[in-house]
Amino acid sequence: MGGNDVGAGRALGIITLVVSAVLGSAYLLGRSLVPGPVRTDSAVTATGADHPEYADQSAPVDTEPRADTEPRADTSQPPPGGEPNGPEQDPSIGPMGTRVGTGTGGVALTFDDGPSPDYTPQVLAILREHHITATFCVVGENAEAYPWLIQQIVADGHTLCNHSWDHDVALGARSPEWIRTDLLRTSAAIRAAAPDAPISWYRQPGGAWTYSVVSVSRDLGMVPLHWTLDPSDWRAPGATRIATSVVDGVRPGSIVLLHDAGGDRQGTVNALYRILPELTSRYDIQALPQRGM
Ligand SMILES: [Zn+2]
Repeated sequence: MGGNDVGAGRALGIITLVVSAVLGSAYLLGRSLVPGPVRTDSAVTATGADHPEYADQSAPVDTEPRADTEPRADTSQPPPGGEPNGPEQDPSIGPMGTRVGTGTGGVALTFDDGPSPDYTPQVLAILREHHITATFCVVGENAEAYPWLIQQIVADGHTLCNHSWDHDVALGARSPEWIRTDLLRTSAAIRAAAPDAPISWYRQPGGAWTYSVVSVSRDLGMVPLHWTLDPSDWRAPGATRIATSVVDGVRPGSIVLLHDAGGDRQGTVNALYRILPELTSRYDIQALPQRGM
């Protein structure tokens, strides 16, 4: 028995390492590269008077400062990939079963935190110009405030994704019933604007996934959607840096994280004028499937 236990422990250790290294790297990087203080500055400078500040690189669920661990072994989360998919693991599936790639050679652009009357119409116009569709991870209170933008997103053939009611980065740490209420309220606001549009995806604000939020979103028929490439456009580094990050970083199967709301997003909009010609010449750019995966 003792030998078996040691063997099982070693196997589990190896599996955990492999999953962490191969599947979890993008995920963990996305969580750990941006230190808290930067986000705080951004919140101060980028918040419009009438816009809540959203950012998908914001603090993880547990905001306690942790001085030592690097790379971040996020002990607030269960270990990633408890149940590997077998020897041939699907690289588009990340920690806790979140989606971290398109699963095809194609590239998916995702726009978070909207809709916003300032930026969403501009993004829609550019996408239309290039005859491509994208995925919009919308916040419930914004869907309620700007139903015509939800309708425009749907009319243009884009895919909708639930991004919680008010961008609660700590949502995953709340009770399953709380999470469920939040996600249902958000989907109801989207459906009030676009009754027939499928909402097959859920993206946790801040990428702060927990098993609870993954489980509830799945129960509600949504696939938990993370990302592959984060150019940190929410920090408003300017159009050139955003465009370079995307154009240089994108690979076949990438899911790209961008923002059309939650602060000054004109840099993101302007970056699209360079990103889209480059990417459409190299990749098939498409919204994630409306019915999930
Ligand atoms: Zn967000």
